[in-house]
Amino acid sequence: MEKAFLNQARLGEFLGILRLFGELHGPTVSHDGVAAFAALGDASALRLDYGRTQIPPKKYLIPFREELLQYRDGSYQESQTNAPDMVLFGLHPCDLDGIAYLDLVFLGDRPDPCYAARRAALTLIGISCEPDDFCFCNDSLETTACDLFLTSRGEGFEVAVLSARGGSIASAAKALLTRSQSALLPTRDASCPIPPQDPQLRFSGNPLWDSFAERCVSCGACSVCCPTCYCFDVREYPGLGGGGTRLREWDNCLFVTHGEVAGANFRGTRLERLRYRFLHKYCGFSPLEGMTSCVGCGRCKKVCPVQIDLRELIETGRQPAAELP
Ligand code: SF4
Ligand code: SF4
Repeated sequence: MEKAFLNQARLGEFLGILRLFGELHGPTVSHDGVAAFAALGDASALRLDYGRTQIPPKKYLIPFREELLQYRDGSYQESQTNAPDMVLFGLHPCDLDGIAYLDLVFLGDRPDPCYAARRAALTLIGISCEPDDFCFCNDSLETTACDLFLTSRGEGFEVAVLSARGGSIASAAKALLTRSQSALLPTRDASCPIPPQDPQLRFSGNPLWDSFAERCVSCGACSVCCPTCYCFDVREYPGLGGGGTRLREWDNCLFVTHGEVAGANFRGTRLERLRYRFLHKYCGFSPLEGMTSCVGCGRCKKVCPVQIDLRELIETGRQPAAELP
């Protein structure tokens, strides 16, 4: 693996090179302190000291609402996905892992064409971060799930090239880069942090669920802010003149409507909905795909208005069953 060094003083020029590969987006912070990925029309808006954005980068791959097709007179026309080339700069390893997880879901056996078009147009450039009290990702601060990864070191950044696209960017920026003597980039352990033995059994009866359900207000913020939550609903809106439009919109498993089918509700209580979300994250998808669907970004704890913290469940999940509270 190639590695190079970028001096901090040349970061502005480096961003200029990145613009050759697509519209440049990165972390910004609003005047009231909310961090968000946004277009960097002005490079001075870039804030690499951000903790975590409120909405994760999944917004670039799964829009809140998108048109899938239009129908009329017994036939339909699929909508075209608008996917201009884009460079997303300054992603932390947990968010890169979140995108790697979405890739497993949306580019698996039956690739989703809308997602695939956006993903193919997206260049990902990661950067190392400083974990805070909300983080619980794996210990390594680097990941290989991107095209380039910048590790902050002294006067600048070590730049690891992790894909052919990353190599093209490094070539275009070679006048800005010097040689780095650093060791190889360590790979991250993406295994599920929960012990695999009987996890469903161990979590389903945990009395913490009752205390969480008493406090939860079903606002759904934890799911909206989660980089790996991707539930969606498909709706059709008929037009007055015949025909209509089919849309796909974000859905939320914390909402009471999520489990409604033909007048019945399979998860009518808050307890059932909370438990469903957690069991899906740790005990549903993870054992099947070998990658946990919680990347430890800490957003759900940070946004929860009643301070529900899934780490409490993870800790009890590590205890032998006989020691559960
Ligand atoms: S469950 Fe919470 S900590 Fe885990 S990825 Fe989602 S928002 Fe981040
Ligand atoms: S953010 Fe907190 S209160 Fe809101 S749905 Fe999630 S767990 Fe419940």
